[in-house]
Amino acid sequence: MANLKPNMMLDSIFQLDFQDLKSRNIKGLLVDLDNTLVEWDKKKADERLIQWFYQVKEEGFSICIISNNTEDRVVEFKEDLDLPAIHKALKPLTRAFRKGVKILGLKKEQVAVIGDQIFTDVLGGNRAGLFTILVKPIGNQEFWWTTFVRRIEKRLLKRLLNPEEVIIRTNEDK
Ligand SMILES: [Mg+2]
Repeated sequence: MANLKPNMMLDSIFQLDFQDLKSRNIKGLLVDLDNTLVEWDKKKADERLIQWFYQVKEEGFSICIISNNTEDRVVEFKEDLDLPAIHKALKPLTRAFRKGVKILGLKKEQVAVIGDQIFTDVLGGNRAGLFTILVKPIGNQEFWWTTFVRRIEKRLLKRLLNPEEVIIRTNEDK
């Protein structure tokens, strides 16, 4: 159960507090693609997201996309962006997370995982010893399987939301 618990929960990536991450000595981000950065059926980053990538780099963070989706999908998405990416990551297996840490050139203590799914992003990130940040999924047009898993996740979240050390930040806070 402990491995299913994110260290932080946000409404979206745009709520990420870079100063807060720096205070935790985090210097790199491994970010999920589908429903974390864009909807799963959206091929490209929009202007707001492109600006966010710039900001991440300006703040001094390194960043790598880590996706369970296919090479075609990931390559097309990152084509115009100057970003490294791992496709077919097989999250929650830890191998791709370790590879991501290596790509970022950091220690695992310096890396945060950001994703919208507990059973892939959070579980894998925790098992790899990384700081984990769960965001709310963008959009809701998903495969039935994801929807099914999501329902279980919601129930699980309620149980986990007895929050001793989970940092929760929602839009209502701002
Ligand atoms: Mg996702």
